[in-house]
Amino acid sequence: MIIVLKPDATEEQKEKLKEKIKGLGFDIHESTGKERTIIGVIGGNVNILMELGIETYPGVERVIRVLKPYKLVSRDFHPEDTIIDVNGVKIGGGHFAVIAGPCSVESEKQIVEVAKAVKEAGAHMLRGGAFKPRTSPYSFRGLEKEGIRLLLLAKKETGLPIVTELMDPRDIDLFEEVDVIQIGTRNMQNYRLLTEVGKLDKPVILKRGYAATIEEWLLAAEYIASEGNNKIILCERGIRTYETATRNTMDISAIPLVKQLSHLPVISDPSHGTGRWDLVEPMALASVAAGADGLIIEVHNNPQEALSDGPQSLKPKRFRELMEKVRKIAPVVGSELV
Ligand code: PEP
Ligand code: MN
Repeated sequence: MIIVLKPDATEEQKEKLKEKIKGLGFDIHESTGKERTIIGVIGGNVNILMELGIETYPGVERVIRVLKPYKLVSRDFHPEDTIIDVNGVKIGGGHFAVIAGPCSVESEKQIVEVAKAVKEAGAHMLRGGAFKPRTSPYSFRGLEKEGIRLLLLAKKETGLPIVTELMDPRDIDLFEEVDVIQIGTRNMQNYRLLTEVGKLDKPVILKRGYAATIEEWLLAAEYIASEGNNKIILCERGIRTYETATRNTMDISAIPLVKQLSHLPVISDPSHGTGRWDLVEPMALASVAAGADGLIIEVHNNPQEALSDGPQSLKPKRFRELMEKVRKIAPVVGSELV
């Protein structure tokens, strides 16, 4: 249930109302917008509140029953777009951000070279996997702790904030200086992991599970938000269908739909969405046109030799060309690239 307060509701009226609701055993989440405050009431039997006639309390404008199973991440609870600030890089609400870098961190030379190249092309953040979820246990599984050290080195060299994947809550302490934690497609429903990142005050990219419905994806985001962390960036990365010509099927329609349902920024990952470098640019541009708030793109200085995801990685030159086109399309749909 959502309680919308009147624009002129006093602090005292609000506090009294919150006390009353908490006293009945409900959890409260407050969202302060530009014009009014919204109080989200979670848990318990909301019929009790309806019977109390909450809508007649002083300072209350309206009471809305939210029928969707996710509440905190829904637009009903927070009508304005959420803007997430990653060390000065804004994403959402008209701010477009591009994250680029290799699938895996492989060596100091590789990550620093790619970081410099993507920065020069205009990327806003650097990606690189240190802990890699691989389908086969015999594939390269990442440099782990050393990979994070190398990412931090590349951050020092370029000033780019870093994004890297966390697979296991036991590694969380290694991520202290990481700017954005990525939760990968395979872990979208790892509820213990979601709960742990929900306790942090750090932005999280939540990739869509490759077989997840949009509702399941938003409920996974709700797990993070319900622990107190609202800095969630949703990432469409393709879903598994019967089609085998592409690695996944890029669900572009999910971008505008999720933006209708949720206030959270939505970015697009056409690298994993297609699995083919030659399809990355058209799907990236389609995502921008569909209203995405950002892109995450795999870039490698030598894709033929990459230890993971070489076939879907762009060389720096192609990435530069893509950035030029993104810069032209984004303003058409009301986004700004700095
Ligand atoms: C990745 O970003 O390299 C990755 C493993 O992504 P996903 O979880 O979307 O497959
Ligand atoms: Mn990858």
